[in-house]
Formats: sequence, structure tokens, C-alpha cells
Amino acid sequence: MANNEDLFKKIISHAKEYGFVFQSSEIYDGLSAVYDYGQYGAELKNNIKNYWWKAMVQHHENIVGLDAAIFMHPTTWKASGHVDAFSDPMIDNKDSKKRYRADVLVEDFMAKIEAKINKEVVKAAKRFGDTFDKGQFLDTNPRVVKNKEKIEAIKNRLYPAMDNNDFDGIKQLIIDLEIACPVSGSRNWTDVRQFNLMFSTQIGSTAEGANQIYLRPETAQGIFVNYLNVQKTGRMKLPFGIAQIGKAFRNEIVARQFIFRMREFEQMEMQFFVKPGEELKWYEHWKQERLNWHLSLGIPAEKYRFHDHEKLAHYANAAADIEFDFPIGFKELEGIHSRTDFDLGAHQKHSGKKLQFFDPELNESYVPYVVETSIGLDRTFLAVFSHAYTEEVLDDGSERIVMNIPPVLSPIKAAVFPLIKKGGLPEKAREIFDDLKLDWMCQYDEKDAIGRRYRRQDAIGTPYCITVDHQTLEDNTVTIRERDSMKQDRISIEEISGIIAGRIKENR
Ligand code: ATP
Repeated sequence: MANNEDLFKKIISHAKEYGFVFQSSEIYDGLSAVYDYGQYGAELKNNIKNYWWKAMVQHHENIVGLDAAIFMHPTTWKASGHVDAFSDPMIDNKDSKKRYRADVLVEDFMAKIEAKINKEVVKAAKRFGDTFDKGQFLDTNPRVVKNKEKIEAIKNRLYPAMDNNDFDGIKQLIIDLEIACPVSGSRNWTDVRQFNLMFSTQIGSTAEGANQIYLRPETAQGIFVNYLNVQKTGRMKLPFGIAQIGKAFRNEIVARQFIFRMREFEQMEMQFFVKPGEELKWYEHWKQERLNWHLSLGIPAEKYRFHDHEKLAHYANAAADIEFDFPIGFKELEGIHSRTDFDLGAHQKHSGKKLQFFDPELNESYVPYVVETSIGLDRTFLAVFSHAYTEEVLDDGSERIVMNIPPVLSPIKAAVFPLIKKGGLPEKAREIFDDLKLDWMCQYDEKDAIGRRYRRQDAIGTPYCITVDHQTLEDNTVTIRERDSMKQDRISIEEISGIIAGRIKENR
């Protein structure tokens, strides 16, 4: 079994080799942390979008969609707090010239201590067997207790320093913990500085009249500023939601993890407007509902976990991440945030327009509270893609790489092959293909031996291969080969579409 770093490299090269993900402007040596999706990547991405949109919008009567512009009035970002506070503390190592997020350096340090604790637990569990009481062990083992205290002490310095923009304090913490640069190994650090993550540009044609605007760093604000438009025109009653899929841009300081952290990426967000006081009930509801969505893809539950935030953003009264076990470890995939009335309240104040809901039961108007679900499309792509990547040794000793992509998301649903390139088989295969393609994304392939054609489809995650042979011409039957089991069955041509449909429904 390859270690995770090797596995991650293999996944990245598979993504490139099979037309899923390319480095942006690769012929010019690429652009850092920007990626393009190739012929199969674009399909997979679209399928993830549709799967999310259906679950959120189509399956909920009280959730509607929106497609807001990327450019927004600059005051939007003043109101949302992004102009003043959407920044990360950065620090450079003078020897390696590498730039880091100062808080991430400290968090990684804490994660190492956490890993030590986990190791102790595993060791002890082995030693004590059935009688092992994890809670008691964590509370009483002297080494564990000491490490837990260490983490607490670090948190007690890091979080207040972050809240107060105390950059000297963060730097002192890095010095006191003797954190070294992972590249140079040295502790030769610059001061910590604030770095705003928003990209800005100019709108307007004349230099004098031009205004500075931003590329949106999140899609959520497009929903908030349209709250009243949608509520009124859709005659929506609380609770209701507005969902949106779209690009977001962040000038990330550290962007070295393939499509996990990009400078241009896509978000799928839903803002759920509720009566004040009911937000924590809905927050719990959406936490569970979103986890269920992930599980509906058939990826095992142990690949996911919740991470409840201890340190809440100033606008939130509850927040959790759904983390996924990526090849680079458990990391945030989706955030569920109870954002109170912070955003609508701020836009109401800055715009001077009332952003309220008239509650007919109470006979009064108020600013609704909001529960947000915010998932990264590219990170979902990476989660699905990395989980699907499987190297198999077959019974005959040969090897195959198969992408066990949930069929509902597979770029190609079925490939149609003539067994050989003559005897009327290509014509018959094309006829079947031309019919299937009206309902499903399909491929026709007659090149190379059948085994190689199967391998090509396995490598892009196609659930079914349909082969036309001489018998097809006699009785209108074909063989259908299933991707995961490689089992082949003989079925009639009319059954193909139903089999594909049945398999795709499994994920609902
Ligand atoms: P992180 O802590 O990893 O930077 P975040 O907490 O800033 O993420 P949010 O602002 O909550 O992220 O954004 C919601 C979702 O958008 C995240 O859960 C993630 O899936 C996605 N996302 C955020 N930043 C990026 C990025 N740079 N590249 C790809 N996806 C991203």
C-alpha cells in the first residue's frame, strides 16, 4: 500500500492523464493554484452540481435557486466585513523564501501533539484490550494529560491573538514553540503581516471614473443582497432557502494542494432564512441533512466527520465543518454556519433598505436569521475522485486502475463497443449508441482489443460497457459488463437504458 503522499501524487497524475484536471495555462508553465477541468472533469463537475442542485432545490419546495453576478457593488464587501477582516496573518521564512499562514503553522504544530495523543490511545487500547476505557485513559495518563494541557495553553494564546489582530503575539508564539520552516528547517522568520485575500480590479472605462471592485470571495453575499427580491417575487414564507452555485476567488497565501485550495474555485451555497430563535434547531437539521447528502453517494461514513468550531466567527452563534478523509488527511469539505442576522442586518444598515420579513402570525416585521450550508465544488470533486481511485490486482495476476465513481456522478454512463470492426457489428453498435446517447452521456469505441477498451472505461469510471457481437445481429442481445464486479451478462437491447437508470437511482 502506497503512503498517502504517493497516493495523492498518483491521483493527481491520473486526473491529468485521463482528461479530468489540467494545470491552468500549462503551456506557459501554469498559473499557481488555478486549474482547468478537462473533458471528463467537466462532466464529473457538472454531475456533482446537478446532484447538489436536485437535492437542495428540486427536492425542497421551500428552496429556490439564484445565479448572481460575480461583480457586486463594492459596499457589499464593506458591509459583509470582508474589506476590513477577510485576511490571514502571513509570515515568510527568510531562508526558504516560503510564505505561510502564521495561524496554520501553529495549528499544524497542535495537530502533531494531537497525533501523539492518538498514538498513545492506540497503543493503550492494544495493551488493555476489552477493558480499555478511552475516556478514563485520556483523563488520567500523565503523558496525555500533559500534551492536552500543552494544546490548551497554545489555544489560549493563539485565539485571542487572532481575534485582536495581535501579530506580535502570534510571532512570539511561533518563536516560543520553536516552529521551524518545513522546507529550510530554519527559524528565521519575518514579522507577521495581515494579507487581504480579495482580488480587486477596476470597473468603468475612464481612469478618473473607474471604481475599485472585487471578485467575490464567496457566493453568499449575492444571495443576501437578493433576499428581498426573491422573497417578494417568489412570495416566500419563512423558513425558506436560496441556493446558488458559482465561482469565488481568494488570493490564498498557501495554495499547494492541487484542487483542494485554489485561487479560483466554485462554491455551492444555500442560505436558509428562519425566524429568530429557531436558528439552532435548523442548524442541527442542516448539519444532519448535509451529512446524509454525502452519505447518499455511497462513500463510507468513516470517511466523514464533524468538526464543531470552538472559535466562532464574530457573526456566528454555531458552526461546524464536515471534514473528509482526503489523501492529505481529514480536512474541511463543507461548512454549516448559523450566521444570525449579521449579514442581512449589515446590508440593511449600509444600504438603508429594510431587509425584513413580515410575520403574519406575530403581526410584526423582523430581520430573519440565517443558517448557511457552504460546500466547495472542487473539494467535493477531489473527495469523490480520490475515494474512487482504486488499484486492483485481478485473479489472472494482471492489474487495473478502476475509478469507483458513484454511477450518478460518472462522466460517461455507458460505452458501446462492436466486438470487431467488421461484419455489420460497428453499424449495429452505432445504432445502439445513437439511441442511448439521447438519454445518457455515452461513448462509442471500436479501437484496440476489447480488454483495452474495458480498461480505458474503468480508468474514467464508466459503470457499464455494452458489447455487440455476432449473436446481437441474430437475437438483439448484447453483453453488458459491470465496472466494479467485471461481471458480464447477456441482456436484450431494450433492457440497457433501464439498467443504467436503476443503477443511477441507487444514489438517491
Ligand atoms: P479553509 O479554512 O479551508 O480556508 P474556509 O473555512 O475559509 O476554508 P469557507 O469560507 O467556509 O471556507 O468556504 C466554504 C467552502 O468553500 C469550504 O468548505 C471549501 O469546501 C470551499 N473553499 C474555501 N476556500 C477554498 C479554496 N481556496 N479552494 C477550494 N475550495 C475552497
